[in-house]
Amino acid sequence: MEILHVSAECYPVAKVGGLADVVGSLPKYQQKAGAIAKVVMPMHRTKFLYNNEWDVVHKGNFKAGSRNIEFTIIKEKKNILGFDLYCVDIFGLLDREKVYGYDDDAERFLLFQIAVLEWVNHWNHKPDVFHVHDHHTGLIPFMLKQCYVYKNISSIKSILTIHNAQYQGWMDWKTAGLMPAWDTWNWGLLDWNNIVNSLACAIKCADGVTTVSTGYLNELTVDANGLESLISSEISKCRGILNGIDLKVWNPVQDTFIMDNYSIKDVKSGKHLNKKKLCDDFNLDISKPLIIFIGRLVTDKGADLLPSAITGFLNIPNASVNFLILGSGDKKIETSIINMQNKWVGYYHSQIEYNEKLSHQMYAGADFLIMPSRVEPCGLNQMYAMRYGTIPIVRKTGGLNDTVKDFGEKDGYGITFINASNADIIHAINRALVLYENKSKLHELRSKIMKLDFSWENSVKEYFKLYEK
Ligand code: ADP
Repeated sequence: MEILHVSAECYPVAKVGGLADVVGSLPKYQQKAGAIAKVVMPMHRTKFLYNNEWDVVHKGNFKAGSRNIEFTIIKEKKNILGFDLYCVDIFGLLDREKVYGYDDDAERFLLFQIAVLEWVNHWNHKPDVFHVHDHHTGLIPFMLKQCYVYKNISSIKSILTIHNAQYQGWMDWKTAGLMPAWDTWNWGLLDWNNIVNSLACAIKCADGVTTVSTGYLNELTVDANGLESLISSEISKCRGILNGIDLKVWNPVQDTFIMDNYSIKDVKSGKHLNKKKLCDDFNLDISKPLIIFIGRLVTDKGADLLPSAITGFLNIPNASVNFLILGSGDKKIETSIINMQNKWVGYYHSQIEYNEKLSHQMYAGADFLIMPSRVEPCGLNQMYAMRYGTIPIVRKTGGLNDTVKDFGEKDGYGITFINASNADIIHAINRALVLYENKSKLHELRSKIMKLDFSWENSVKEYFKLYEK
């Protein structure tokens, strides 16, 4: 079985969020399980590109409207990720520093997808499956089946994984006109509400569709940013497969980013030393419980709810808790999070940036991680936190609901709440503060969450079953 993953992100090559973590680890575990898994992505201008050696494996060109587009496929020489990694370069279009956020993103990702299909069309062997991830690669299942020029590879199956249905790759018909010729009677496959919608098109055209948790699939039938009726009508080919985590990258025993390595056996002292480093670095009080937030500062993650909830706690004289926030995103939310900085020196700190190393240090050094997400397709942070013995405080939604069981329930281990509201967040944090004082219970829960199995093995089996079907 040979699988070609097509994605905009892949850790450690280029990462914006969880998509990169999944595409950087799932193929590795698929290889371990006996398949051939490869990744192809745009050649973003990141450190990884310059720090590694590459072979040029293919050069090609295609017509996009009246333009002739030349592209190059390069392959990382040493297989350092544990699978074959290919990058597509289209001069001036894909070789940029950021993964997303350019005005011509729709065109960039469309031409990337055409280049991938052109390359595979000229390859001397074919993958069995195209596994495409999110809307940036969502036109591949359509083009594969509908564009005359890809007739020879149209029998290759395609699987779409939805990591986040909020973003759908909307595109005007003029941009979509850059695709190679296809039977225009089938225009309806591209259309959703009078606009080209890459994600909707992928849901219609892929042979199978997965979401990154079962809970999220159920939620999408009710609310999918306008696609709920489509998901419901295509439900027979959809299934939820929970993400796993890379147990090598996220491992307190061998993590080179953290201050002190530790395992379940010495979790108490290990976490203490890591917490001390964080508290020293950010002027926080080590004797108090430390609650962290890591993530994109957007309303989907509930980041807008943090300032008022945190204010509620820190307004009390001699606050009995510290907060540390790492993230970036919506400018308005960033400002409200930065504005609290001067008010509570010694109890509160925010780092408005993307910082992979610091994120590891925070998972290791914190007591609790809060995720008040309004939408959470799977959520990886809570799984990373638990691997490092940090107790998750999460809203019961999507993948958070599938992975965190409240410690008040039988066999539970985390803290959950129902509404994305100030009252619910404050209540949940209060429960955390009470738990923090009960040292034996705290230790019991830490040990429990560090033993939980969030490995890829089970999910890899689920993917194989789907590919084989
Ligand atoms: P998303 O919806 O953003 O993909 P996930 O929970 O699936 O959310 O994955 C988030 C990933 O991005 C995790 O690996 C998390 O540690 C990382 N991350 C998010 N924001 C930051 C940041 N500011 N600095 C470092 N890592 C971050």
